[in-house]
Amino acid sequence: MSDEEGSEEYLFKIVIIGDSAVGKSNLLSRYARDEFNAHSKTTIGVEFQTQCLKIDGKEIKAQIWDTAGQERFRAVTSAYYRGAFGALLVYDISRRTTFDSVSRWLDELNSHCDSTVARMLVGNKSDLENIREVTSEEGKTLAEAEGLFFIETSARDSTNVRTAFEIVIREIYNNVSRKVL
Ligand code: GDP
Repeated sequence: MSDEEGSEEYLFKIVIIGDSAVGKSNLLSRYARDEFNAHSKTTIGVEFQTQCLKIDGKEIKAQIWDTAGQERFRAVTSAYYRGAFGALLVYDISRRTTFDSVSRWLDELNSHCDSTVARMLVGNKSDLENIREVTSEEGKTLAEAEGLFFIETSARDSTNVRTAFEIVIREIYNNVSRKVL
C-alpha cells in the first residue's frame, strides 16, 4: 500500500465475549463468510477473522477475535483483550442465564480494557422468538444503564449481524479519527 494521501489504513481489533453457546462463533462466521453451522463443534484456541471495509474512503481492517471455546474453562486470557478497540458482548435471548452473566463479562472487560473501547450488547438468536426468555426491553434497559450500544441479532437468519459489527467498527473509527484530528 502506498503512502499517498487518501490511502490510510486502519487496523481495529474487536473481541467477542459472552457465555458458551450463545452464538459467538456463528456471528463471526456469518459476518465474515456468510456461513452458519447448526451443529458447530467448537475448536479450542483463539481464532480471528479479518474483514475489510471502507469508511469515509479509508480502508478499515477489522480483526475480529472469537474465544473459540476458551470461556468453557474460565480461561479467557488478558492476551485476548490486549489491544482491543471494540467488544461485542453476546447473550442468547432464549437462555436467561446467559443474560445474567452479562455483568460478569462487563466486569472482566473493564478489568482489561479502558472505557474508550466501543461496546455493543448483542442479544443473539432472535429467530427463537417462541422460546424467548429475555425481552428486548430488558436488553435495552441494561445497555442504557451500562452505556452500551444494543442490538438483537440472528446468526441463523442473518438478521442485524452486519449492522452489529459495523456499528462497532464505525464507532471505533469515529473515536480514532477524533483523536487524530
Ligand atoms: P459460541 O460457543 O458462543 O461460539 O456459540 P456457537 O456459535 O458455537 O453456537 C452455539 C449453538 O447455537 C450452535 O448449535 C449454533 O448453531 C446455535 N446458534 C448460534 N447462533 C444462532 C442463532 O442466531 N439462532 C439459532 N437458532 N441458533 C444459533
